[in-house]
Amino acid sequence: MTRHQTPVFFSDFDGTIAQVDVTDVILAEFADPAWREVEDDWVDGRIGSRECLKRQMAMVEASAKELDALIDTVPLDPHFAEFHALIRERGIPFYVVSDGFDYAIRRVLRNCGVDGELLNGSHLFSSSMHVRGRGVEVDFPHWPEVCAHGCATCKPEVIRRVRGDNRPVIFIGDGLSDRFAVEEADVVFARDRLLAYCRQHHVACTAFETFAEIDQHLGVGVRGQDWVSEVRSE
Ligand SMILES: [Mg+2]
Ligand SMILES: [Zn+2]
Repeated sequence: MTRHQTPVFFSDFDGTIAQVDVTDVILAEFADPAWREVEDDWVDGRIGSRECLKRQMAMVEASAKELDALIDTVPLDPHFAEFHALIRERGIPFYVVSDGFDYAIRRVLRNCGVDGELLNGSHLFSSSMHVRGRGVEVDFPHWPEVCAHGCATCKPEVIRRVRGDNRPVIFIGDGLSDRFAVEEADVVFARDRLLAYCRQHHVACTAFETFAEIDQHLGVGVRGQDWVSEVRSE
């Protein structure tokens, strides 16, 4: 049924496209060390990621120049830029869905040559951040109403609203905030904590380390036919 539909990619950013969590890097460098206590509250499930980020980012003290210099050191998946160029050439939609902040994500993506529609709400769905003096203001545009999970950016809701009828969804991610998104996906590529979660909860997924492997798995599909059966026969 879905076989002849063009798939839609949704990818996490931190720990997936970027090799580190950029928000954590910013907090480690520029926030009061108490940010780690808030992080524990989130990891242990006492608060959602929206509440967590709101409280943590209020502890950040840095200028735009300092933030930019730090963001420019963030290492990326070495095969991401190539992968993105390939699927773009094939006309396959690729959306970044992230609890992280548009300010940092845009800068990292532009640094690796991905430009075009990086407006938050077009091909990027993430939390939003503005630098004000030596602090930052944050906002959560996707969506303003808090979901039942307490997400900063509700990934399953973004997928539901954006995917279009019957288009197969390929989700790529690594972390805790991705566990809600996999429920909306037809094909899941997972690493680290998301991989452990999928295995524990019997969610079908393919383990990956870099985007080069995703490209290989999808080789036939990205180039044309039968991508669903290709991926599912793994
Ligand atoms: Mg992640
Ligand atoms: Zn949610």
